[in-house]
Amino acid sequence: MEHPNDDAHADLSPRTKVVALGRPERTAGAALNPPVTFTSTYIQDGPINYARVDNPTWTPFEEAVGELEGGRALLFSSGMAAVHAALSLVPAGGTVVAPAAAYNGVVVSLTEAEQEGRLSVRWVDVTDTDATVAALPGADLLWLESPSNPLLELADISALTAAAHEAGTLVVVDNTFATPLLQRPLEDGVDVVVHSATKYLAGHSDVILGLTVTADTEHGRGLHTRLARQRTLGGAIAGPMEAWLALRGLRTLSLRLERACANAADLAERLRSHPRISRVRYPGWGAIVSVEVTGDGDGTEAAEALTTGTRVWSPSTSLGGVESQLERRRRQPGEPEAVPVNLVRLSVGVEDVEDLWTDLRRALDALA
Ligand SMILES: *Cc1c(COP(=O)(O)O)cnc(C)c1O
Repeated sequence: MEHPNDDAHADLSPRTKVVALGRPERTAGAALNPPVTFTSTYIQDGPINYARVDNPTWTPFEEAVGELEGGRALLFSSGMAAVHAALSLVPAGGTVVAPAAAYNGVVVSLTEAEQEGRLSVRWVDVTDTDATVAALPGADLLWLESPSNPLLELADISALTAAAHEAGTLVVVDNTFATPLLQRPLEDGVDVVVHSATKYLAGHSDVILGLTVTADTEHGRGLHTRLARQRTLGGAIAGPMEAWLALRGLRTLSLRLERACANAADLAERLRSHPRISRVRYPGWGAIVSVEVTGDGDGTEAAEALTTGTRVWSPSTSLGGVESQLERRRRQPGEPEAVPVNLVRLSVGVEDVEDLWTDLRRALDALA
């Protein structure tokens, strides 16, 4: 499906782009929104042959996210499918430099690939730029996540990308926590951006989807072709209904994020002075706040009690939806040991901040 109008959006603010991009061509009688195309195949001799290769319902969402990130996007069935497509760029027996603390699906995938002898991994503290640069020579890929899940650590994306390229190393940035409204890694020269669109992009905790985005350069288009081939042959494709829901969710990304970020900044401040909180991790932007809860022993029980003691916040894994959620991350098997056992990750939603604070404060005050 062609969207010739999208080129005309280059000068608009991202806040307008999330609303305007990925619309059908503006002709008399056309629908404002794209249709959902439920099909497995197409009449032969057209632009698409089979629906594992492409579906016109993916295109508007891919074009919108691609334009927001400043590149070309490919939709996958989940964030992890996009992660695995990006990791497929590493040759067999290659070396990946990766953060010791990152999304557990990535850490577990790399750990198992290493145990099975498919890759070697150099685990680094990506907040230490010098140590990360020192690990680059001979590496095929540098994996970054910034802010990281759930420690909210920041990597110097532009310095690390420059050093990686000097070493001949590809750079992937998982931009799930920031979204293209807060950070555009392709502008720093990053080779592949990955997203769990399950989180902020779709934003309503109702779909699982992922994306890769690559630059619109000769090098970037080469990567796009390899990633698209990986998607077609690996078969990790999105359902058309999920793709449509994600585009619908994207329309309010700017509004949702504005409110969620303001709420998070406010709550981070208030949480700092609660006697049951020993540490607040919040990088100063974004809508995720991680806290460490004090209690008997290592604080595990107190942290668990906080997550089940709230009424508005829902005790559930995942993040980036309109609804506030909280979770003690070490409940998850495979969560890196660098994550404290008493750490609770708060995904701050768009509710009234006073309700969110009252609910949290009551649950914290109720800890024996
Ligand atoms: C959730 C998440 C993923 C995995 O995405 P899914 O859509 O659950 O497959 C990858 N990276 C980060 C940072 C995440 O938060």
